Amino acid sequence: MSSIIGRNLLAGAEPDPAGDAGHGPDHPPRVGFFTDTSVCIGCKACEVACKEWNAVPEDGLALTGMSYDNTQGLSADSWRHVAFVEQSRPLGPPAPADAADRPVDPAAAPDHSGVDVFALAAGQPAAAGAPDLPARAADSAAGAAPAPPSPDGRTELRWLMSSDVCKHCTHAACLDVCPTGALFRTEFGTVVVQQDICNGCGYCVPACPYGVIGQREQDGRVFKCTLCYDRLGAGMEPACAKACPTESIQFGPLDELRRRAAARVDQLHAAGVPEAALYGADPGDGVGGDGAFFLLLDAPEVYGLPPDPVVTTRDLPAMWRQAGYAAASLLGGLAAVFAACGTHRKGPR
Ligand code: SF4
Ligand code: SF4
Ligand code: SF4
Repeated sequence: MSSIIGRNLLAGAEPDPAGDAGHGPDHPPRVGFFTDTSVCIGCKACEVACKEWNAVPEDGLALTGMSYDNTQGLSADSWRHVAFVEQSRPLGPPAPADAADRPVDPAAAPDHSGVDVFALAAGQPAAAGAPDLPARAADSAAGAAPAPPSPDGRTELRWLMSSDVCKHCTHAACLDVCPTGALFRTEFGTVVVQQDICNGCGYCVPACPYGVIGQREQDGRVFKCTLCYDRLGAGMEPACAKACPTESIQFGPLDELRRRAAARVDQLHAAGVPEAALYGADPGDGVGGDGAFFLLLDAPEVYGLPPDPVVTTRDLPAMWRQAGYAAASLLGGLAAVFAACGTHRKGPR
């Protein structure tokens, strides 16, 4: 454990969160998740495995009608959430910035505007009563089959999928504000809630910069991913990573995961996917880096993630200092008033 005297443990560089939380020098290496969203297929096996292993109750079975994703988000009863992001954009590299100014070669730049993805998906011409899209109307009038997708087989839609979870932040505001010690840092550097100690105050809920923590309606206690603390203690990997069929969720020592993730980004860039970027992997970011970080194919906001998260307790030392100055000023003023009153009483009559 490095010396914590004089250091701000709520923000800034933090190479050993478990050690600084009081775990001895022999504590195991910090572990976490690298989630490579470029290979997620949206099967939700991770959600199911989490519920099964941790006996997490169902979270409502209503259909949203807005997406195939009916989990909707993380909550006290959904510790994993696979987001489905449906975009009107083909897979592959984005168009160059000057694409609009370039002369159009019809052979090299196929016109996708006539593609009817609904009819293509069904493998048949548009159904009667379907929206009268211009391209569909033209196809129908000519008696032609729907326009084909681009020569490489891509259509105008793409789905981004990402399995979200507690980030097990290096600087975890949920843990900082918990008055009972129910939230604690484990020897693996992860952040866990002890449900039997949680008193349901809910302070941790707004403290989390990612909106991860939720309370159960029955008694207000909070629940979230434990990174399968019980499995780690038995030398097993977390249930979600074990169940993921594509290795989109990778578990291991954080240093190794960061190296693996950097190599994967290089690989994707070389393959013509320049938008691939890591999220939460930088120890210099506003939360000191996440224990669960991601490779994304679009901006974080697209996946419902904050673009620049900051630990919400970062400014507490400065705030307490200012409050101390204010209290000292007040006491000084009161002392001056009492002193003046005393002098006045002792004066000549
Ligand atoms: S602050 Fe939020 S994301 Fe970070 S460890 Fe706590 S619950 Fe997880
Ligand atoms: S690590 Fe365990 S508790 Fe966390 S999401 Fe995965 S299965 Fe659930
Ligand atoms: S992360 Fe893995 S298990 Fe979860 S939805 Fe994606 S592919 Fe399936």
